Amino acid sequence: MGKIIFLPQAVVTKTAAGEVIENPASVVKELVENSLDAGATSIKIALSEGGKKKIVVADNGCGMCKEDLLICHKEHTSGKISTEEDLGRISSLGFRGEALNSISCVSDFSIKSFSSQEDDSQGGDSQSGWKIPVLYGKAGEIEPIGMPQGTVVEVQNLFANFPARLEFLKTSQYEFQKIYYLVLLFVLANPNVSFVILHNEKPVLEAPVHYNLEKRLELAFGHSDFFLPLEFTAGHISVGGYLSMPQKSSNSFADLYFYINNRPVKWLKGLQQIKKAYGTLLEKHQFPKGALFLKVPFEMVDVNVHPRKEEVRFKNEALVLEILEKAVLDLLA
Ligand code: ADP
Ligand code: MG
Repeated sequence: MGKIIFLPQAVVTKTAAGEVIENPASVVKELVENSLDAGATSIKIALSEGGKKKIVVADNGCGMCKEDLLICHKEHTSGKISTEEDLGRISSLGFRGEALNSISCVSDFSIKSFSSQEDDSQGGDSQSGWKIPVLYGKAGEIEPIGMPQGTVVEVQNLFANFPARLEFLKTSQYEFQKIYYLVLLFVLANPNVSFVILHNEKPVLEAPVHYNLEKRLELAFGHSDFFLPLEFTAGHISVGGYLSMPQKSSNSFADLYFYINNRPVKWLKGLQQIKKAYGTLLEKHQFPKGALFLKVPFEMVDVNVHPRKEEVRFKNEALVLEILEKAVLDLLA
């Protein structure tokens, strides 16, 4: 008898969820991306025990109507792309339509939302949104709830139904640090959005909307005195941001925040190219600090290669690397 079986749906769902959602930080990443995609100008993140016990992300974005709220947590649902062609020109942060589904399958989840634009209830209460709970993948009843424009997602007891993943969560402090670093990446890239993080009810980060990139660098590095502003354009490709003076280097790449089309990415080759441009100004074990924003036409870059969209692939990587090096050489000259 053959030994291959079709896996039960419950197993498929859980393992798929486990691929997207690894830890509290990956929950926060997906939720903040959704808030940014929704055009929010204010994002509040409240955490308990490093997010292991509870994560709340509240935004003032476009919100959702009842109809959308009913399906947003289901598999493969997205309001961001609709055709295969769309995949070639993605500008939103999310697009796989699986984050809310994955999170709601492995937590005590709820989402509430109010969209004043979409409020089609005639003569109804214009302050009324909707809330739907989803307990480890099982949706409850949707109910009306009074709230301002925007969306609030609550995630409690992550992985309580998934011991294999729960076991691998680290201490609250460790998980919190991971989230803090991740949110900093968004804070630097979105100067027109205010961010607040509360941990165990104490405010631990506040970046109001009037904080520009320089002010936000201060939040990340404690100061912004040793950064040089960079601005470089070559054809349709541009590089902007701040890099540290050579004498103020770091001992790893961890202090160099790198973005492609405003998306934080792990692109080691790019980082190495930046370091290379510093040449003998930096010792072998010294690395630049800063935040660098590379902008390339959407069709030149594929962000679809990694399940958490952390990696990228270029159509003409050599050209991009060359421009990056030129930009840094130009700055240091
Ligand atoms: P994706 O972001 O890949 O489309 P998600 O599962 O993260 O998939 O979200 C599903 C859909 O729910 C989104 O496409 C969007 O239409 C809606 N949505 C999720 N979060 C928000 C939010 N904070 N504000 C408004 N709409 C949201
Ligand atoms: Mg998303």
